[in-house]
Amino acid sequence: MEAEASNGNGNGNGCSNDHDIIRWFDTISTNVATVQRETLRQILELNRGVEYLKKWFGDKDLDIREMDACEMESLYTCLVPLVSHEDLEPFIQRIADGDTSPILTQHPITTLSLSSGTTEGRQKFIPFTRHSSKTTLQIFRLAAAYRSRVYPTRSKGRILEFIYSSKRFKTRGGLMAGTATTHYFASEEFRIKQEKTKLFTCSPHEVISNGDYKQTTYCHLLLGLFFQKEVECITSTFAYSIVQAFSSFEEQWEDICKDIKEGNVSSKITWPKMRKAVLDIIEPNPILASRIEAICEGLQGSDWFGLVPKLWPNAKYVYSIMTGSMQHYLKKLRHYCGSLPLVSAEYGSTESWIGVNLDPSLEPEKVTFAVMPTFSYFEFIPLYRQDQYSGSGSVDFIEDDPVPLSQVKVGQEYEIVLTTFTGLYRYRLGDVVEVSGFHNETPKLKFICRRKLLLVVNIDKNTEKDLQLVVEKGSQLLSKHRAELVDFTSHAKLTHQPGHYVIYWEIKGKVEERVLCECCREMDASFVDPGYVVSRRTNSIGPLELCIVERGTFKRILDYFIGNGAALSQFKTPRCTNDRTLLKILDLYTVKRFRSTAYG
Ligand code: AMP
Repeated sequence: MEAEASNGNGNGNGCSNDHDIIRWFDTISTNVATVQRETLRQILELNRGVEYLKKWFGDKDLDIREMDACEMESLYTCLVPLVSHEDLEPFIQRIADGDTSPILTQHPITTLSLSSGTTEGRQKFIPFTRHSSKTTLQIFRLAAAYRSRVYPTRSKGRILEFIYSSKRFKTRGGLMAGTATTHYFASEEFRIKQEKTKLFTCSPHEVISNGDYKQTTYCHLLLGLFFQKEVECITSTFAYSIVQAFSSFEEQWEDICKDIKEGNVSSKITWPKMRKAVLDIIEPNPILASRIEAICEGLQGSDWFGLVPKLWPNAKYVYSIMTGSMQHYLKKLRHYCGSLPLVSAEYGSTESWIGVNLDPSLEPEKVTFAVMPTFSYFEFIPLYRQDQYSGSGSVDFIEDDPVPLSQVKVGQEYEIVLTTFTGLYRYRLGDVVEVSGFHNETPKLKFICRRKLLLVVNIDKNTEKDLQLVVEKGSQLLSKHRAELVDFTSHAKLTHQPGHYVIYWEIKGKVEERVLCECCREMDASFVDPGYVVSRRTNSIGPLELCIVERGTFKRILDYFIGNGAALSQFKTPRCTNDRTLLKILDLYTVKRFRSTAYG
């Protein structure tokens, strides 16, 4: 059931190869129960006899190939327990330390991926194999085929991709470690994807792999403008990077124009290999430079509204992950993009790709992801929100027994469980999704939030999604005063009784204190979680605190994470933090504090 994805073609020439990959997906998304059992059979057969599976199956040498598929599936889910990353950590650590015995997989693992670590505060090692890069290629090409139906692009055009590798390093046992995106950008599949989709990235590998995101961003922008006419679309892994790049463009456009005029690279770019790679590409182009200068001078007057279509008139769309914690950046992205379509990119994790966006014309707020049933074996834990006051403070949802992919129901929320080709067995991913429909028989998922509870003081429970809604409400007042919320995070402060929520805001523009006071009150009053409301009424949770931080504080936070090995391509601002260093940065740069008067 392997995809003949190598025939796909993401360009807009109506090539039959697009049809091939779409037809392949139509086949695997029909009769998903069988496809999923076959996927599980392949995983178990591939890893027959590994230490971890022996632990649960015992020494019985089960002949998976001969077994009835339903029997195999129920035996597997009966004997192998649900686990989290913590449970697998000792096994993965042994692999990292150089133990080459078949621990999780029969083929020795030679590469480990690092999850971004920005949502949970700690980076995790995840096994990475060739299968990981292959599925990346397959999902990218499938998504490209669907996009090209709606937004055809010119063959041999270019993509302005704001992509960043992090530094790769060797573990104690000599395994290569780095983020999954870093491995992919260095892989053969990254090159193949460009050839097959007939869209080529503007920046050479030396720029992508530099490791200094400020220098890389500068070169991406410089080359993106040098190839201005050829750029067919603008992308990044997560939307944050695009917003970050254009906000730095606002400050650096004059230097970039000078470089284009002279065919030079600013002295800010210090890494010799990167300088040389860029200098090998660009040539003096004074006409282009003065055209861009004139556009930028005009854009300055409109706060850079519509920057993208003005600077890249041939771009057909902007493509990036815009859901989940990236939703906050949509407003700014829309500001930069004007009426250019925003296409929300696929849903996946370092552990496995999960779903593809089959409706590229949908607004990012409405996008869903059709599960790829050959990529992993998926199970879904039904989640029910707790009734008022019924639960303990640490339980966010009530869970039911996991169900297979073929048995999920529309409207139900679930936590995703993965069994992967890379040696994760019944692994709880920690993401909450809702089934919103089906493509053939495969479910289309709406991403809801990370499962981990965010803000908890006592009996209150507020997730990432709850916080986002509250912050959206509070910040509406800012827009009325021509200011904008650049970024935000939060913390449940328990050091003084009663504990209370602290929300940190970085804002652009001048806002009167009375307005900020009102924003603070509005947010406090907007948490609808019954546990929070009742605790606020009885003052067992104190008034919400809004801290306004100095401009540039969230850049400092980014630098802190990048300094600790995160890659900009995978960076997600933590929406809630208990990280001491982060709190120190936030408190150090807090310039104003407000306490809510709600429930007064
Ligand atoms: P990482 O572990 O750094 O690879 O990040 C993976 C996590 O990013 C997922 O588990 C999700 O929580 C989040 N994520 C990835 N893709 C999307 C998406 N399309 N929409 C929302 N969140 C996403």
